[in-house]
Amino acid sequence: MNRRIVVVGANAAGAKAAAKARRTNPKAVITVVDRGCFISYGACGIPYYVSDTVADIKELMSTPIGVVRDANFFRKVKGVSVRTGTEVVGIDREAKVVRLREAGAQDASLSYDKLILATGSSPFIPGIDNVDLQNILTVKSIEDAELLKERATPGAEACIIGAGLIGLETAEALQKNGVRVTLIEMRDQLLPGVLDPEVAAVVEKQVKLQGVTVLKGCAVTGFAGEGTVRKVLAGEREIATDLVVLAPGVTPNAQLARGAGLAIGTTGAIAVDDMLRTSDPDIYACGDCCETTHLVTGKKVFIPLGSTANKQGRVAGINAAGGEATFAGVIGTSILKVFNVNAGKTGLTEAEARGSGFEVETVLSPAPDRAHFFPGAKPILLKLVAERGTGRILGLQAAGEGAVDKRLDAAATAITFRATAEQLSQLDLAYAPPYGAAMDNLIVAADIMKNKLSGHARGISAREVKRKLDEEDDFILLDVRSPAEHGEIGIAGAKLMPLGVLREKLDELPRDKEIVTFCKISLRGYEAQRILDAAGFADTKFLDGGIMAWPYRFRDK
Ligand SMILES: Cc1cc2nc3c(=O)[nH]c(=O)nc-3n(C[C@H](O)[C@H](O)[C@H](O)COP(=O)(O)OP(=O)(O)OC[C@H]3O[C@@H](n4cnc5c(N)ncnc54)[C@H](O)[C@@H]3O)c2cc1C
Repeated sequence: MNRRIVVVGANAAGAKAAAKARRTNPKAVITVVDRGCFISYGACGIPYYVSDTVADIKELMSTPIGVVRDANFFRKVKGVSVRTGTEVVGIDREAKVVRLREAGAQDASLSYDKLILATGSSPFIPGIDNVDLQNILTVKSIEDAELLKERATPGAEACIIGAGLIGLETAEALQKNGVRVTLIEMRDQLLPGVLDPEVAAVVEKQVKLQGVTVLKGCAVTGFAGEGTVRKVLAGEREIATDLVVLAPGVTPNAQLARGAGLAIGTTGAIAVDDMLRTSDPDIYACGDCCETTHLVTGKKVFIPLGSTANKQGRVAGINAAGGEATFAGVIGTSILKVFNVNAGKTGLTEAEARGSGFEVETVLSPAPDRAHFFPGAKPILLKLVAERGTGRILGLQAAGEGAVDKRLDAAATAITFRATAEQLSQLDLAYAPPYGAAMDNLIVAADIMKNKLSGHARGISAREVKRKLDEEDDFILLDVRSPAEHGEIGIAGAKLMPLGVLREKLDELPRDKEIVTFCKISLRGYEAQRILDAAGFADTKFLDGGIMAWPYRFRDK
């Protein structure tokens, strides 16, 4: 008898698994079951539909040549039957049968030889007062997209709860519709878990410049309104609103697996091995419903992304169909565009690396994204994280108006293959002025990292310098830029001594005090530190990232 494969869930992971299973095993009988009406749609495109960047919602469900990926498409083109509006409510592993529930129909069942769970994730709904009022919406499905677009009327006030990737993309989409947006984040920075605070500050600055109100460190405790939400409550604070978007994250849909007695991992998602087999060898799981391995830490993680769901769908499809494929894991690479800023990360942030027990060194490197003389060059800030001792690259974060994607992708490759700062600094990257600088931003960051790891360069973070200034520590903050640059913009409390005169004026500086040098991006700052070192100054450092990466207020002119 031909192999019977049942796939539960027909979005990114499930649809990919079914299509790949068909290509692997032309004779298999493949059935995909989904409780929703829409299948194989790009949820990632929802914010762009809401903002009218994508005009027709069908584009999110179509092939590149405009054919809608519905049940008919899967039957005719892929040879796969799809049952929509049908929920799988139970799995009898002994009998190898799934139980189905369809509105208006008698409960039914479906036998399988191999089962693939691609049940995805659901928006996390906090258990707070009045969370079920009308106009409190989520952003996950096609239905959500239509509702959000309908309610996002010009002049309306909206509160978005959660400043993660989806919250920020939704903020832009609503604001483009003329909605006045307040972004509410419980933590004290945007994109927590994605970026370290000083990189997130670049995003926050741009988001505020676009007119979005940002409330950080603000824990929402409930909502108020008669039938429809009118206020967001955060302790004593009340924020008037017409619309709320809940975007505090998603949770894996693991209930079906749990009910069937399959192993659930420490993250709360379905546990799988590298062939994406669950604890039952005849059942696979892929996409947002399962956990995976972080290739840097080796730990299990739940990082729900469409990029991963598609790759895992392929692997589950091949294996369920009788082939052999493995999925090694992820390094958490993610990226977003919000207004005119691009931001993303790959590997570990500094906070994550320290939390995982690594001894880390970091580099902040701000620079134009292409040759500085080329029209249209835009600034980006890179933060590179490496392991002390081995020099292994652990992570890269990037934010700015310029091109961050190619730096993130090059770093993702380096991290995947366990490259060191030395190896990263020698990558033969593409260069011509319209694309980058002769020394690409990533190479520069790797070179600074090498200098730091060898002890030649000693950086100090903006946060630490700010603390020293606030607490009036006895140290010298030395601005080694030109007088013109110094006059234009500066840090209160800094002493000007341009690099060109530093050697002549060494006697004006006390040798027993800590000296922190800086310039625009800390290239001259580093040179100044080396000059002071050579002259025998005992305690010298440079400000990481220079004044371009200073996230605090500048000196009043
Ligand atoms: C607004 C937004 C923007 C995003 N942007 C990006 C991005 O830029 N980059 C990126 O990589 N990722 C992005 N993502 C994440 C990405 O969309 C998800 O990772 C991806 O959709 C996961 O696919 P999946 O098939 O595993 O799960 P899902 O998309 O959650 O699909 C699961 C399917 O299973 C069905 N199902 C569940 N339980 C049952 C059951 N018991 N019976 C029958 N059917 C069931 C559901 O109806 C659903 O159709 C974004 C997500 C959102 C919401």
